[in-house]
Amino acid sequence: MSLQAPRGTRDILAPDSARLRALVETFAGAAELAGYGQVVSPMFEQIEVFRRVGEATDIVSKEMYEFRDPGDRHLALRPELTASVARAFVQHRPPLPWKAWYEGPQFRYEKPQAGRFRQFNQVGAELFGSDDPQADVEVIALAWRFCTGLGLRELRLVVNSLGDRADREAYLAALAAYFERRADELSAQGRETLGRNPLRLLDSKRPEDLAVVAGAPVIDDCWSEAAADHFAAVLAGLESLGIPFQRNPRLVRGLDYYRRTAFELASDALDGAQDAVGGGGRYDGLVADLGGPEVPGVGFALGVDRLLLACDAEGSFPAPSGAADVFVVDVTGGGEATLLAEELRGAGIRVERAFDGRSMKAQMKAADRSGARWALLIGSDELAGGQVSLRRMRAHGATATGESVQRRIPRRDITAELACLLATEAAEGSTL
Ligand code: AMP
Repeated sequence: MSLQAPRGTRDILAPDSARLRALVETFAGAAELAGYGQVVSPMFEQIEVFRRVGEATDIVSKEMYEFRDPGDRHLALRPELTASVARAFVQHRPPLPWKAWYEGPQFRYEKPQAGRFRQFNQVGAELFGSDDPQADVEVIALAWRFCTGLGLRELRLVVNSLGDRADREAYLAALAAYFERRADELSAQGRETLGRNPLRLLDSKRPEDLAVVAGAPVIDDCWSEAAADHFAAVLAGLESLGIPFQRNPRLVRGLDYYRRTAFELASDALDGAQDAVGGGGRYDGLVADLGGPEVPGVGFALGVDRLLLACDAEGSFPAPSGAADVFVVDVTGGGEATLLAEELRGAGIRVERAFDGRSMKAQMKAADRSGARWALLIGSDELAGGQVSLRRMRAHGATATGESVQRRIPRRDITAELACLLATEAAEGSTL
């Protein structure tokens, strides 16, 4: 049997890998503009880190990749990063407010399908140390600004408040009582979910459950005054920034640590079942659950793979060009191409070349395929005369600089000459 990447995982090759990296870099730029610094934490943690924050959730109870290492430590590949970042906060106690962004793969043993993988990438940000509703607004605005900056237009921001811990417990009891009353109308799986966590039923997509969920109590009736005021301030903040949102009183999110604000970003350009590109909310209490002080926090995570699918669907955020600037064609054996390529790369010029002593024709074909705008030719005449021939590639035509024909340039001048040409082209391109 041929070896393959494990089910639910993928190899990401160029140019998709370059696009993924560009997306992460764009996120890093947006987060750092807002004062968030990157945190890089381990891909696996003591299993307790996740158990303490989400024992009753599918993500933690059913979908974790857990294992024992040779030292008999019970570990899990991270299924999400907020718990890891909160653990890192408790361990290092950076000064408050602590604003951190992250990126990287997460692991969940889910049923693979379009837009759902067992290893997937997220970017996210967390703000620890403030319970100001303006912090919630800042965090949501960062997610919104980044996603719209990718060119996504068919985005929907859905918001809710889960109230404080006591509000949430009261709501849970009201929900449980309601669903118990109508248990025989639920699907068999729905009844099983009810036994574990009635909140999770609100996420059910099964038609029988949907009908029952439609009549379920809403959280608003359980909010404390402080939680209601907080939510009103968050919504007012979003309005003042002109960020459009919808209220969904049944949005609960997949992890149990959320308090007060919860939000989700969905793309109408994606298939309905997997349309969530990200989400987050406030998790006052999470740091304490992990053995730290009572420090509030708010943050979000976005699914990079889904964001890119949404970009595909909207025709935005194309892969960056992998094309070379220059292709060195050397028909004197290849050693000159090595020297010249290294010299030009040292000057920051993207250079490709061929190997295996191929013919002029074959090398010119490879040059075409590389997308290079310029070819540098080294034949025996050039070599003898200490020169290189510079040629504009046919596919790229002539430019305003008038460089359409082949001309010889002294070998020692070529790096400076090319750097100058490329800079002129870049300037022309930027004024188009
Ligand atoms: P969550 O941590 O569950 O709130 O997920 C945040 C975002 O990560 C989701 O909205 C998705 O975009 C993405 N995501 C979650 N699980 C997966 C998965 N299995 N495959 C791909 N993306 C995922």
